Amino acid sequence: MTKQEQLNELNDLMLKCSNCVLHKTCKQVVPGEGSADAEIMFIGEGPGQKEDELGRPFVGAAGKFLEEMLATIKLKRDQVYIANIVKCRPPQNRDPLPEETAACWPWLLEQIKIIQPKLIVTLGRHSMERFLPSMKISKVHGKAMRREIEGIGRQVFYTLYHPAAALYNGSMREVLIKDFRCIPKIIEKIKSEEK
Ligand code: URA
Repeated sequence: MTKQEQLNELNDLMLKCSNCVLHKTCKQVVPGEGSADAEIMFIGEGPGQKEDELGRPFVGAAGKFLEEMLATIKLKRDQVYIANIVKCRPPQNRDPLPEETAACWPWLLEQIKIIQPKLIVTLGRHSMERFLPSMKISKVHGKAMRREIEGIGRQVFYTLYHPAAALYNGSMREVLIKDFRCIPKIIEKIKSEEK
């Protein structure tokens, strides 16, 4: 089976998920989208209103900003993979509860195992905390880190501020844009270390 076929099968299962209460209030599941062969996987927190309506991740204002930043490094959103920690919108965009992120975790692990990205870019504090617990985003943003993750193995992570948080905050926005521009160099380094 190709990676895309494996993702399609996984998505079909996700659409029927009832592992936590969020499936009761969301309009639809937002599994994620992009290239099954992506080198970079972006992981946000969870779907917002627009994502819930359209069934696609990062399609609101934060998504537009993400696409603009991707363009600065000559990438389109269909060349990367974009997913979230939770696949169903939390009511009123509240933070996902620990039991909700725990219930959704196996889906994300499977996505990562299928795609096998060279780099996982976490967007925002909640996404970072799931992979790199007890770290402070103000300290670790813009730093690539290799970590052993149970069920995945060794994986390189890169933490960014969340595009929605940075959108209307001038200084955070500048930092995010600057951190984002380092992504191609990090990918190059990962590839040179693989040789
Ligand atoms: N914010 C997120 O974390 N994820 C989305 O899909 C949209 C906004």
